[in-house]
Amino acid sequence: MVISTEYITTLYARTSKLGVEHTYVRKKTIIILRCDSCSTIFNREKGSMDPARLSNQFYHVCSNCDAKKFAQSKGVERRKIWEMPVSSLKTLGQL
Ligand SMILES: [Zn+2]
Repeated sequence: MVISTEYITTLYARTSKLGVEHTYVRKKTIIILRCDSCSTIFNREKGSMDPARLSNQFYHVCSNCDAKKFAQSKGVERRKIWEMPVSSLKTLGQL
């Protein structure tokens, strides 16, 4: 899940042909995320992410977790919900 957005400014120095040092600033947008599989907080550069995935309608899985395995387990959870008879007295929390 998406927790917050942070901006990191990095100062770069470049030496011109005449030997004069020029500094310039680059801004990076970092997205702070919590892994939906193991709850670890991790970050990712915004530029490396699909903008459509920046919402909490998507799951976010850290690099330590297997995203495919996680997606599969989510699929199983869904299926349990679908296969439940309408008359079942179980709430979703009891699955
Ligand atoms: Zn994880």
